[in-house]
Order: sequence, then C-alpha cells, then structure tokens
Amino acid sequence: MMKRLAQTFAALILFIVSIPGNSTEQAEPIRLQYLGHAAFLITTSSGTRILTDPAEFKGYKMPSGIEADFVTISHEHIDHNNTSSLASDFTSLSGCLPGNQKFNYIDTTLNGVHIYNVASYHDPGHHGLNSIFILEIEGIRIAHLGDIGTELSKDQVSEIGAIDILLIPVGGKFTIPLDVADSIVSQLCDGSIIVPMHYRTEEFDSLPHSAEDFLRGKDDVVRTHQTEMMISPLSFERKNIYCKMEYKD
Ligand SMILES: [Zn+2]
Repeated sequence: MMKRLAQTFAALILFIVSIPGNSTEQAEPIRLQYLGHAAFLITTSSGTRILTDPAEFKGYKMPSGIEADFVTISHEHIDHNNTSSLASDFTSLSGCLPGNQKFNYIDTTLNGVHIYNVASYHDPGHHGLNSIFILEIEGIRIAHLGDIGTELSKDQVSEIGAIDILLIPVGGKFTIPLDVADSIVSQLCDGSIIVPMHYRTEEFDSLPHSAEDFLRGKDDVVRTHQTEMMISPLSFERKNIYCKMEYKD
C-alpha cells in the first residue's frame, strides 16, 4: 500500500510528458498552487495564470505581489472575492453580478483556456447564488465548485461534464455536508484528482469539518505536504485520487 501511494505521489509530481495521441507536441504540466480556503492559482504551460476565489479572510492572506491574468469569483462574498493584493492587471470573471442577486453567465476562451460557469446555489433553500467554474486547459478539465450548498441535479452534472481535477468545499455549514460532497465526487469524477478546500483550519476555525474529516475512510489519499502540484495528462490513474494540499502563509 505504501509503495503504491508513493508511486501515486511520484506520478502526481511527474514533470514532462506528452499527451497520448499527440506525439508532435510536448505537454508541459499545469501548475496548481493552493493559496488557502477556496483560492488556487493555476498556471498553464504557456504561463497564463488563473486565480480562483481570492481570500484575505481571517488568517488567510494572499502572497504579496501575486499576479494573475484572470480571476474567477464564484460569488460575491468576502471570503471569495478579494482581489486587493493582486499586483498585476487582470480580467475579473465573476459568476454573480454585484449584490449577488443574479447569475452572470460566462463562456469564453482566453489565452486558449476555455472558461465557463454553471449556476448553482449556496444553500438548499436557494437563497444565495453560487457559480461553478469549469476551466478546460490543454485537455484537462478542472471544476471549482465555489461555495456550493446543494446536491447537483442531472442537468448540472451534464453541463459540468466529466472532471479531471475537482476543487470541492468540504468544511460544511456554509457549503454541502460531507455525504453530499461524496455524492458529487461520484457524479463528476472517474480517474480524477479531488482536492478538498474551504474546510476548518487554524486560519478559519468556525467550520465544522476539517479536510481530514472528509478524507477519513477513503482509499487513495495523498497528503502532498506541498502548496503546489504539477499535473500533466499522465498524472491521472484509473481511480480517483484524493489530494490534500497545504496552505502556508
Ligand atoms: Zn465561503
């Protein structure tokens, strides 16, 4: 078991590989950095930087001087939409209009990255809006679920499609409970990398569940102890791998 996990981790940090069936081009890996809470910085092989749900919230801080080309914002709450530390010009892609009363539908291709969103809700009573972002980067499909608070309908599942990297909130209270997180994984993932986010930490301790609560009892868990991973098409196995990343101030 240990050997298999070690091999899995080695595969996850594997660097240069080629996309199967495309022998003329080398596929550089995508870099995925965890910036805490629901914030990730994704850098494509050509250097395009996409920042998701930036937070300057409780103990979480963005790295100083952080730069991004595009910022996706799942909804207009203060733990998801703080772009004040960005040191670059960027295009903001907000899934909800200011005031969070209406969805803002996005379907665009920027620097070769296809970005679109799927409407969802922050809570089962559908009081608050939330936007799921899907990024298609060099054949890899990433979904950031934002603060989803409901199960996924069949229509949402088909709009989202099969996902290679799932960024999923697991802390509960303001987002889906753990059993719904598990069912969303089974709806969207098959041979995917699942990265928990938006959970209880020292930085933000008022959520009921830690990442470990979500991971408990699961096979194929990798605790990377790293703030970043390099992911290439060959990083994916025939099974789901749960990857817990680290946040460091
Ligand atoms: Zn939140």
